Amino acid sequence: MASDETDAVVEHLEGLRAIFAAPVQVGGFSVDVGITFGVASIEGDPPARLAAAVAAAEETSEAHNPIAIAETGSETDLLWDISLRARIDEAMEAGEIYCVYQPKIDLASKSRAIPISNPRPINGAQRHAISPDPAAGPKWPMDNLRLHSVRGVEALVRWHDPARGFISPLHFIQQCEKAGRMEHLTRYVLQSACSAGQLLHFRGRTISMSVNISATLLGDMRVVGLVRNVLQATRFDPQYLTLEITETARISDHNVASSILQELRSIGVRIAMDDFGVGAASYEAFYELPFDEIKIDRLFITNIAKDPKARAIVSSIAAMGREARITVVAEGLENPQDIALLEHVGCQQVQGFAFSRPLSLSNLLEYQDFTSDRAIANMV
Ligand code: C2E
Ligand code: MG
Ligand code: MG
Repeated sequence: MASDETDAVVEHLEGLRAIFAAPVQVGGFSVDVGITFGVASIEGDPPARLAAAVAAAEETSEAHNPIAIAETGSETDLLWDISLRARIDEAMEAGEIYCVYQPKIDLASKSRAIPISNPRPINGAQRHAISPDPAAGPKWPMDNLRLHSVRGVEALVRWHDPARGFISPLHFIQQCEKAGRMEHLTRYVLQSACSAGQLLHFRGRTISMSVNISATLLGDMRVVGLVRNVLQATRFDPQYLTLEITETARISDHNVASSILQELRSIGVRIAMDDFGVGAASYEAFYELPFDEIKIDRLFITNIAKDPKARAIVSSIAAMGREARITVVAEGLENPQDIALLEHVGCQQVQGFAFSRPLSLSNLLEYQDFTSDRAIANMV
């Protein structure tokens, strides 16, 4: 509709809503009907206006926002989201969607673990050659990474759009879900990650590869076939693959999810619970589902030094993991000075900017090559 008609259209739609306020009689039954509206009050070609109206309708709710209007300015993001959904497949093919890899560090192999409070670059050339995730900032305390052993890496998906630059993964994953393309994205990430893992193994670096799997995929067995197929196609050894289950609160049926996870474990892969301790990840899910690893959410790790409550939470989760024989990983460690604290409370692994930001595959390979050269040099 034209922008000067908004008031009249809203009034009209309120009238339509009033008709549906009373139950509707269907074949002798009384049925409650809810109705909400999305309106596009913008210029442009019909498909774009229709897309904006649909996107606005998705934002509505019967109780709080029954009529949503996309107006010039406010609709740009809605339109953008719609176009994102339509462009997911294309972006994968064009290589705009790809993975970066963040090292997971072993704290248990402590002999080489010397925390450095004031990290220096190893030397100008290498520091330049091995640059961090371009989506992240420039600070990169490489020395901390160099002195610890890398147990594995986590694959994190990125979308670099030529027009808009980097799109946050949380945002486009949500759009993928709305477009019904989560399975497709997961297959793509899994394939990239397992191929990268295979390459690292081929180069003599037998480290593990972690891939995020949305809990929304745990509703049926298709995810098992997906993982099996990718492992076969890439020939990546399943015992080096860890699936990190994100948003565990969204698992609708724990029994179904549990048998799917058991099936995945029978292939040989490990299962991790992501973001443990915050809203999405509960003790109930931890208790009922077969996890091999838990990742303590960044919220507690960030505050471990300054807040005794955060420290108590981290150390109790670490103790629980020990008792239940489950690997405990601390996520999002930024301050190198806190490494000793994590060792003290008994976290086995740690991941965070204190060691490394996520790296592109070529940078990871360069880093790996560099450390293996160094290892050989040290043996002489
Ligand atoms: P996550 O799996 O918990 O991944 C860790 C996130 O924390 C990553 O954000 C990583 O870049 C960030 N991070 C790591 N260390 C630090 C640190 O020291 N400080 C700070 N401030 N942040 C740190 P990213 O890459 O933006 O990913 C966000 C989330 O998006 C992931 O959280 C995961 O839930 C989801 N995600 C990423 N890739 C995928 C994927 O391929 N599939 C699915 N389903 N979800 C994915
Ligand atoms: Mg994760
Ligand atoms: Mg996490």
